[in-house]
Amino acid sequence: MGRVTSLDELPLRDDLRGSTPYGAPQAPLPIALNVNENTHPVPDDVASDILDDIALALRDVNRYPDREFTPLREAFAEYLGHGLSADRIWAGNGSNEVLQHIMQAFAGPGRTVFGFSPTYSMYPLIAQGTGARWLAGTREPDYTLTAEDAAAQVAAADPDVVILCSPNNPTGTPLGLDVVEAVYEVAKGVVIVDEAYHEFAPHDAASALTLLDGRPRLAVSRTMSKAFAFAGARVGYLAADPVFIDALRLVRLPYHLSALTQAAAVAALRNSATMLHMVDEIVAQRDRISATLEALGYDPHPSWSNFVLFGGVDDPKAVWRGLYDRGVLIRDVGIPGHLRVTAGTEAETTAFLDALASIGSPS
Ligand SMILES: *Cc1c(COP(=O)(O)O)cnc(C)c1O
Repeated sequence: MGRVTSLDELPLRDDLRGSTPYGAPQAPLPIALNVNENTHPVPDDVASDILDDIALALRDVNRYPDREFTPLREAFAEYLGHGLSADRIWAGNGSNEVLQHIMQAFAGPGRTVFGFSPTYSMYPLIAQGTGARWLAGTREPDYTLTAEDAAAQVAAADPDVVILCSPNNPTGTPLGLDVVEAVYEVAKGVVIVDEAYHEFAPHDAASALTLLDGRPRLAVSRTMSKAFAFAGARVGYLAADPVFIDALRLVRLPYHLSALTQAAAVAALRNSATMLHMVDEIVAQRDRISATLEALGYDPHPSWSNFVLFGGVDDPKAVWRGLYDRGVLIRDVGIPGHLRVTAGTEAETTAFLDALASIGSPS
């Protein structure tokens, strides 16, 4: 049988030639602080509660699941508050799939998706996967955005989809609601605010959910992967106008959320207080990382997320490798002079900080 050894030999879409897949290393190191997971496992009593619901759902897996995942949408509406109802909620297998649904419906061939670099590395990949073109805007040197500059860049680019990451990954930078309002005002397309890390922001930080009323082209996405310690279950969701949700129904695959996923997520949301009780502890470790990095002579950027981007790294590849050799995996996000680390448990955070200190301080 003839074997194809290179993508060039396959009749691949022209626009996918030369692109590379998402590839955060998955190395089996004892301390993994590289992909912003919640490193605290689901508590035992919650895990058995979830398991009971999965066991029940398993008895009906001969049937297709509820295509509209109504109990799950009701549970998300209740969790989010802000007077939201189930008809304004959507969900998918991770917020990456939710973002893909938006881009399938509103981007696609001949259209453009705009975001402010550096930002989440999946945005260009999801956009290009739908055949759309990614347009990268710029930030201030400290990675912040002003309403005036952001609106001017969006007006000039005139994209079909704008994604605002709040707080931003990989920098941790908070985003003011004035930026969202100004961008929405000038955008003709849809505006997504990705609040994947919202639960790690200060308790009084306002969510873009407060801006949804009267803005039918605005969507606010969230995920259970980070604060809820549910990355392996793959559950993301969004809130938007009911008509915006109808647009996503046009592109989703039928029965895209399995009955087991729906059961697990509903049970986890029933236990949201316990699921989220580690968030404050993670925030404390994040702030400890920032303070210690500063004391070591590095330059940590302010973060409202569960990770810290730090500059002042003369040779990021060498420091990354030095940590790797000490059993600690963090992330080189490709920003010169910088590395990114996820806040772990107290012990994991200590292991990272000790390993970094043993490598030596920046010159
Ligand atoms: C981690 C992350 C997500 C979540 O992805 P899931 O598919 O829900 O696991 C979304 N947006 C950003 C910016 C992230 O960092």
